[in-house]
Amino acid sequence: MTPETACIHAVRDATHSTGAVGVPIYQSATFAHPGVGQSTGYDYSRAQNPTREHVEKLLAALEGGAEALAFSSGMAAIATLLELLSPGDELIATDDLYGGSVRLFNNVSAKNGVIVRYVDTSDPAAVSTAITDKTKAVFVESPTNPMMKVSDLAAIKKTIGNKQILLIADNTFLTPYFCNPLALGADIVVHSATKYLSGHNDTLAGFVVVRSPEIAEKLRLLQKTIGAVLSPFDAFLVTRGIKTLAIRMEKAQENALKVAHWLRKQAKVTAVHYVGLPDHPAYELSRRQARGFGSMISFSVDSVETASTILNNTELILFAESLGGVETLITYPMTQTHADVPEAERLARGIDEKLLRLSVGIEAAEDIINDLERAMR
Ligand SMILES: *Cc1c(COP(=O)(O)O)cnc(C)c1O
Repeated sequence: MTPETACIHAVRDATHSTGAVGVPIYQSATFAHPGVGQSTGYDYSRAQNPTREHVEKLLAALEGGAEALAFSSGMAAIATLLELLSPGDELIATDDLYGGSVRLFNNVSAKNGVIVRYVDTSDPAAVSTAITDKTKAVFVESPTNPMMKVSDLAAIKKTIGNKQILLIADNTFLTPYFCNPLALGADIVVHSATKYLSGHNDTLAGFVVVRSPEIAEKLRLLQKTIGAVLSPFDAFLVTRGIKTLAIRMEKAQENALKVAHWLRKQAKVTAVHYVGLPDHPAYELSRRQARGFGSMISFSVDSVETASTILNNTELILFAESLGGVETLITYPMTQTHADVPEAERLARGIDEKLLRLSVGIEAAEDIINDLERAMR
């Protein structure tokens, strides 16, 4: 099945025979047992719920994993996943990571005795150098947020070889519609489904998708024990969002390319970072490991004043955190998504007061461009 058809048809409501085309919302915390020692397959919704199970099967099918687990947010997914590690274990992570992941690793994982080393994973040799006999996982985000660096997952997998090190990929930006990290050698994929998967800026959700049934079993225990599960209604919303994933991803990408080309021509814009521009350093690599480039752009302007003029004056484009929805959003990484990244680290990564980030939506490209043009004046 092609990815676009799979988004709509990969999972049919398997639990009931009503013929419902939309997945039913099983708004029930608990399930009655037919008799002693008997179960309908559902006991208590923290353990499993039919609506959540539906969207988990859908993500597993789209990513080509053995199982997917749905959580109440992307951070809940990543935090639960990190419980696979023990005190003394080392984690190698991309240095240009989503700010919330940095906050989790530095404040929670560190307290739990996990040693995190940030490296430039776009250089597989840097990953190789950072690996020690205590390394248990490599956490890669690609393209990165907000600097759009791309990591070569197959090359990192090769570096790991047959050492017992889990390769984890945060695939939020590309989604399974454009990229399947498990097919490139990753063991685990994580998603903030708050973004493109649900796609309408109306729900928080997260997923962990795994290649191995043994790891899935460990994560099931952690999921039901920690309890940060996706609610039935939100599972429904994510399922519904995924039905239009293909056309949303295509349209947003088409718009992003137009916006990136336009930004490049503006006198006040000093740099444009978009993976889909043919002279982006990772353009060829992206074409090898993904079917698309996504629709996230970051760009630098000539002064702090220009940055704040744009943020204060866009009308169609909303000045709001998050990404991946039908609405075009603009953010100021320095004060929003990356506010908790230590200043020196942040500046070293190029996240300064002149950097802006756009999540390009599915409006008409000309309306997005007109809004930027007016706001920039
Ligand atoms: C938003 C985001 C997260 C966190 O997800 P939430 O749903 O906001 O908890 C993790 N990784 C990336 C790349 C993100 O963009």
